[in-house]
Amino acid sequence: MADVSTIALEAKSPYELRVHLGDAVPEQSVREALASGDMGFLHSYTTGSTVDGPGVRLVAWTTGCQWRCQYCHNPDTWTMSNGIPISVAKATETLSKYRHGLKAMAGGLTLSGGDPLMQHRFAVKLLAAAKSLGIHTTIETNGAYHEKLSDAELDVIDLVMLGIKTFDARRHRALTGQDNGPTLEFARRLAARRKPIWIRFVLVPGLTDDLEDLARTAEFAAGLGNVERVEVLPFHQLGRFKWERLGLDYALRDAAPPLQELTEQALTILRQAGLKAF
Ligand code: SF4
Repeated sequence: MADVSTIALEAKSPYELRVHLGDAVPEQSVREALASGDMGFLHSYTTGSTVDGPGVRLVAWTTGCQWRCQYCHNPDTWTMSNGIPISVAKATETLSKYRHGLKAMAGGLTLSGGDPLMQHRFAVKLLAAAKSLGIHTTIETNGAYHEKLSDAELDVIDLVMLGIKTFDARRHRALTGQDNGPTLEFARRLAARRKPIWIRFVLVPGLTDDLEDLARTAEFAAGLGNVERVEVLPFHQLGRFKWERLGLDYALRDAAPPLQELTEQALTILRQAGLKAF
């Protein structure tokens, strides 16, 4: 196993493959940490991101996700013990070093993953610490575990970047292995609390390019009233090597990125529904 003490938590890119970094933590300690939120597991963090929320962001990539999206570009984040164990105190100390810069660049902290709500106690504690430092907070999530958060805990999150993979329930299950009901429920819950949402939608030719399905997503999103923008993310193959190195069966090995024309069609559908789409 790798010597965790020699591995930098800061990564040049989230595309670094990281495995087994938390294996040495006894299972009982993992359970206690998850229950208290005093310790979490991070794949890595990156600084200077301009694509993970408003302004310039510090992004902490958590490990743990129970979904199995066919196009996932970070499958090494699925397993919690692949991440480096870190106390919430240590993570807060690192965060506080960046606070002036983040504020000056109208940015903040983004928790992404994996899915940050797999470690919801840790996520809440870290986000609350960020808030107390005056730092804007964002989580990027599939929303499946939103019920773990109370309404008061939701208040430590300024913005939710919600992944809507596809609208049709059957297609969603085939794409991710999970139901999209909780994701849509979370969107409605956030709407009721007037919490801003940015929707993320990954466009994969032959997989998520059913334009009628996208029109239903657009109608749903536009009806919520709290969706500030929708980001259409063209599929790419940057995560392919991770699937191969992890010995996973990658169904999209020959899939191509969408043509510009398809991306434009998707954006038009979203904009016609009254959404700001990019
Ligand atoms: S929800 Fe995100 S981290 Fe989880 S499998 Fe899907 S793309 Fe990957």
